[in-house]
Amino acid sequence: MDGESTRERYLSVCRRIDEAKARAGRENSPVHLVAVTKYAAMEQVRELIELGHVDFGEGRAQHFLKMAPQVQEFLDRRKSLGESNGPDSVRWHFIGHLQRNKAKKLLPLVRMIHSVDSLRLAEEIQSCTENAESPVEVLVQINPTDERKRYGIAPAAVRHLIEQIETMITIRVRGIMTMAPKVDDPEEVRPIFTRVNELFQEIRRSGVGGEHFDILSMGMSNDFEVAIECGANIVRVGTAIFGEKETAEAISTEQAEA
Ligand SMILES: *Cc1c(COP(=O)(O)O)cnc(C)c1O
Repeated sequence: MDGESTRERYLSVCRRIDEAKARAGRENSPVHLVAVTKYAAMEQVRELIELGHVDFGEGRAQHFLKMAPQVQEFLDRRKSLGESNGPDSVRWHFIGHLQRNKAKKLLPLVRMIHSVDSLRLAEEIQSCTENAESPVEVLVQINPTDERKRYGIAPAAVRHLIEQIETMITIRVRGIMTMAPKVDDPEEVRPIFTRVNELFQEIRRSGVGGEHFDILSMGMSNDFEVAIECGANIVRVGTAIFGEKETAEAISTEQAEA
């Protein structure tokens, strides 16, 4: 990874996504890449936008509330300068644990919340969006293993939660999100991703969640290829695009000194 630029890493992730799709015989079905900005420098986010990238993800409310307006400013400035490469707007995905007291501020800025894991959180989102023009799109986060320290609802309880959220008119459940445990060999998590996909397909077939229930968000830097082979249609990748935390810090320092 050392010595590679953000652009090279990004293009390499895009190529690896295409290769994984081909291996799985899924060339014609889209897999969306959410670039996770957790450790990214603003400069790197701008670079991705200039390459035409649209979907970004952040998991820390505080950081997100700082980052999103900066990105918007950058987009507005480009527009006023008549720059034609890159998108007019980006789509933000909130992927972290959402505290109920942060929901109100965050909701107007995000396109999709990947991490709804309780009825209480869904109710909070509902109460913040009563006047919204269109429903908020959410994924229900499931905890695929029994590790207590992880966020997410147990697989056995997911269908019931979806049924409850479906009664809320300002929220639309688009699918499921999961995070596999961190392991050295991504093959170790294949059985987990396979099981989550089976659960996803089962819910889909049952009709709970309706026609718009069609998103399976799983796979990160370490395991996105396996996740795609197991049916993911959104992957959330940070480190493999932006580098380790230190990369962003070095870039930020360079920018500040320049
Ligand atoms: C940090 C994070 C990611 C990205 O992780 P990388 O290993 O850096 O790709 C994806 N999803 C969630 C929920 C995260 O918190």
